[in-house]
Amino acid sequence: MTQLRTVDLHLHTTASDGVFRPAEIVRLAAEANLSAIAVTDHDSISGLDEASTACRQLGIELIPGVEISADAPGGGDCHLLGYWFDPNHTALQLWLGARRRARIARGEEIVRRVNDALRQRNGADAPQLAWEDIAKRADIAGGGSVGRPHVADSLIAIGAVGNRDEAFATLLGTGMPGDVSYDRIQPADAIAQIRNAGGVAVLAHPTYLRDYETVLPSYVEQGLGGLECIYSDYAPSLVASLQSLAHTHGLAVTGGSDFHGPSSSAGGSAVGRPAVPFEVLGPLRDRCAQRPGS
Ligand code: AMP
Ligand code: ZN
Ligand code: FE
Ligand code: FE
Repeated sequence: MTQLRTVDLHLHTTASDGVFRPAEIVRLAAEANLSAIAVTDHDSISGLDEASTACRQLGIELIPGVEISADAPGGGDCHLLGYWFDPNHTALQLWLGARRRARIARGEEIVRRVNDALRQRNGADAPQLAWEDIAKRADIAGGGSVGRPHVADSLIAIGAVGNRDEAFATLLGTGMPGDVSYDRIQPADAIAQIRNAGGVAVLAHPTYLRDYETVLPSYVEQGLGGLECIYSDYAPSLVASLQSLAHTHGLAVTGGSDFHGPSSSAGGSAVGRPAVPFEVLGPLRDRCAQRPGS
């Protein structure tokens, strides 16, 4: 029996809020018999070099990837995945650096607000967060991208909560003290940056976006090239309706686990689950922007 070739195009590492290093994620991809993967850290491509070396050793194709947070129309987050851009593109590197600096300023504000909340809830002697601990967890010095999951891990370390879920449910989730907005960007900015670097932009986990069917045409006009139709917890009927939506708008179909780690409730629970067919790669690559001079 010939085995179907599969891929995972949505994976997080320690370059953002994943639990495993890039080389460890690649090892898990090899154990899952994947033919190709994309490492898609939040606003950071600092994990790509290590992933690339590991992929070469294990015979897996690595597609350069990134996941960019933008403002959603009507509030909330819109996540855009970028693929096959040139990782050495200077303008993209500088722009992602600015996105990470915005995250740092926001992270410092989250620490102030969460510490206030901890004192209000637990008294003046309540254990407090230290920014230095969070910065270290996020490997900011090494090009890592800090986010609320790192604050959650620091909250666990000081004994304020038991796990990431509880941290989001009590302190970091929507409308809570740690839900701090920052110098946000529009989806069109993210799409343009990815395309300028020769890549293709894909809307991640579309159902997280309110009224995604209504806003999708405007994203397509802005240069969106794909839709993440196969995703960790999407039922077959939802996958089918998203595939049909992608077809209607001329978008490539993509998919991935959004794996962050085995005990993380964000995203999927294993690398390579759900299975995404290798055949999605051709139409996705066809939608890459032309690189100047190529
Ligand atoms: P940020 O990038 O700082 O806005 O944090 C958003 C990230 O937090 C998402 O990409 C998820 O990885 C994670 N996340 C969101 N909600 C939860 C939750 N309820 N439990 C654990 N992690 C979460
Ligand atoms: Zn994440
Ligand atoms: Fe996301
Ligand atoms: Fe993600």
